[in-house]
Amino acid sequence: MKPTCDHPACPCCGESMSYRDSRKRIRRKEGGCVEHLLVRRLWCPKCRRLHVELPDCLVPHKHYDAEVISGVIEGVVTPDDLDSEDRPCAMTMRRWIRWFHENRSNIEGLLRHAFQRATRSFPIPKDGSLLGFFREHTSSWLEAILRFIYNSGEALPAGSY
Ligand SMILES: [Zn+2]
Repeated sequence: MKPTCDHPACPCCGESMSYRDSRKRIRRKEGGCVEHLLVRRLWCPKCRRLHVELPDCLVPHKHYDAEVISGVIEGVVTPDDLDSEDRPCAMTMRRWIRWFHENRSNIEGLLRHAFQRATRSFPIPKDGSLLGFFREHTSSWLEAILRFIYNSGEALPAGSY
């Protein structure tokens, strides 16, 4: 079967996947406001694996909105920010920043690998950073790189962040 919106392509092998079930995920915004989202779990008959269809606004293994996390990493959202009202707390912000800095080379490698798989013949610049390119040229850079990495079947370590 050819992949469609209802039956998207498997990130590992490209086979058309089928809907298995949905799970609740928490989406926490700046200030602590919580929303519940339903995310689809899809089954690949070829890999025999379940894949979670993650919406752009979520980051794997984290409850906070991707926009809040990227804002903290960029220094736009800080513990002194009145909008955040202690949510996320300063310690959580420090953990996200540490997670990002400890995974920079990992992210770069995964982006290069995913880029190479997606474009095949398109040459990847050896000297420039793909992560730097995404951060400089896309407004929702964290969402973009995570989607790129996870849609290629790769994953970042969750760590204890
Ligand atoms: Zn597959």
